[in-house]
Amino acid sequence: MADIIQLLPDHVANQIAAGEVVQRPASVVKELLENAIDADATIIKLIIKDAGKTLVQVIDNGKGMSATDARLSFERHATSKIRSADDLFHLHTKGFRGEALASIAAIAHVELKTKQEHDDVGTVIIIEGSSIVSQEVVVTPKGTSLSVKNLFFNIPARRNFLKSNAVELRHVIDEFHRVALAHPSISFVLYNNGSEVFNLPISNYRQRIVNIFGTKTNEKLVPVEEETEVLKISGFVGKPEFAKKTRGEQYFFVNDRFIKSPYLNHAISSAFEGLLKNGNHPSYFLNLNVDPQTIDINIHPTKTEIKFDDEHTLYALLRSAVKHSLGQFNIAPVLDFER
Ligand code: ADP
Ligand code: MG
Repeated sequence: MADIIQLLPDHVANQIAAGEVVQRPASVVKELLENAIDADATIIKLIIKDAGKTLVQVIDNGKGMSATDARLSFERHATSKIRSADDLFHLHTKGFRGEALASIAAIAHVELKTKQEHDDVGTVIIIEGSSIVSQEVVVTPKGTSLSVKNLFFNIPARRNFLKSNAVELRHVIDEFHRVALAHPSISFVLYNNGSEVFNLPISNYRQRIVNIFGTKTNEKLVPVEEETEVLKISGFVGKPEFAKKTRGEQYFFVNDRFIKSPYLNHAISSAFEGLLKNGNHPSYFLNLNVDPQTIDINIHPTKTEIKFDDEHTLYALLRSAVKHSLGQFNIAPVLDFER
């Protein structure tokens, strides 16, 4: 019998991985913004054209890459962020899979410009459909600029599946909000088709929320603080009159990462029980800080889902912290036995 199994060539494997990591321009935005944050940038610019379909560019003032690393960064499973499986449980970075750049380069035209602080010159690499077209020396400021052009140029089915610019821009802005809210100590700017959409200075958390959602938001925010031996809850919930018919501003972060957790979101919503008009959804901006050893973030390629060691205790703590805050601000009667 003939053997029929073959290892897939890298560019095919990368394109398959891209199917999971990159759904739309907003996915590219998320990956590039997270890389800039992991590089310790303090100023991050996001430039998009046609809602990201034509261009997504992120420019950061972070630590940059050496010429060799710049090349390696596009290899699959190439990462500077973990070295062993054990590191997965001590993560302090957004990335660790070493997949984003390889995936993106498999399905778009990419230009990377990067320089480290103490190098005189930097590196510019052009890569299309997983193959390096050119690599040259370039004069460029410290940090990294990554441009992703013509997303899905080689996968027409995917390209055609993209929604209108208005819808794709909405997704991009959602992603931008999530990252910017998780990092008020970083300045973020967003340009679409040459015009400034957001310009967020370095600030505290309350100020960041207000800068994004408008000055009227300020008076509607109720602080939430709770600290135990195993976790810290901080942030704000919107007063009930801030609640909306549509599920609007609901942000839940775990260790500075936006997380989708219907279960814990329910804990927060249920703390509002009896305070909201029928069908209204509360707003919240809540951060949970836990020991990275008590969570597993490696359950989905986009890392928006998480597995907690003890979800039931978290549920109870979140609910009571929010209830307590609403009570303190005279929005709900304080029921002593609930704490
Ligand atoms: P991951 O973030 O999971 O490590 P990526 O494919 O997103 O994987 O990036 C690969 C590597 O390229 C990173 O580990 C990092 O060393 C480097 N890199 C990517 N973007 C930047 C950036 N903006 N600044 C500095 N280094 C970067
Ligand atoms: Mg990354």
